[in-house]
Amino acid sequence: MTKAMHNPNGVERRGLMFVLSSPSGAGKTTLSRMLVSETPELEMSVSATTRPMRPGEIEGRDYYFVDRSKFDAMIAADEFLEWANVFDNRYGTPRAAVETALAAGRDVLFDIDWQGTQQLRSRAPNDVVSVFILPPSVQALEHRLHTRAQDSDEVIRGRMRKAGDEMSRFDAYDYIVVNDNIGMAFESVRAILRAEQLKRARQVGLDAFVQRMRLELER
Ligand code: 5GP
Repeated sequence: MTKAMHNPNGVERRGLMFVLSSPSGAGKTTLSRMLVSETPELEMSVSATTRPMRPGEIEGRDYYFVDRSKFDAMIAADEFLEWANVFDNRYGTPRAAVETALAAGRDVLFDIDWQGTQQLRSRAPNDVVSVFILPPSVQALEHRLHTRAQDSDEVIRGRMRKAGDEMSRFDAYDYIVVNDNIGMAFESVRAILRAEQLKRARQVGLDAFVQRMRLELER
């Protein structure tokens, strides 16, 4: 499915699909932005959603905001790599941008829920790396939902109720990071990405690279 970054050694790399999931308010959006800004070969997948835009959000950066009929037309045209109902709205990953990035050997970051993660994994089991972010406590989660001031009290109550259910999905993920401190959580997520990029199976052309060095050493 994926080609690779070009490298002067002739060692290329398969792009990977890096998924960050968490209950809302666990700091995933902040971590995603930090990771994309520090990792040139990583790009963010921008989802489509039927939910209303929140204050501060930008069309095409945070989401593509579409109505239900447009979303359903995209499903019918097979334009989504995965999609799911979350909090009474629909969310989906447009296929084209992801396939283009992976074909160029770039990595793609996904901020999607557990249902989308399972769908991606069943399509590309070797290319998905999933990380679940947990809040350090219920109190911290509630505090974050209130201080970001994007949702009404009613919406926040709904999100708190669903957070427990979302957290129970942690066991389907490869890595778990407790976001007690944003700097440390970022270092953990970055280390996971780096280690996964360096997996032997993701590096193509190692045989030829080592062979060339051996020939040179024998001369
Ligand atoms: P929010 O409305 O707070 O931006 O997102 C609500 C939830 O939907 C989050 O858990 C987020 O990860 C998830 N989500 C966002 N985009 C997608 C997507 O394209 N697919 C799926 N399956 N979940 C998504």
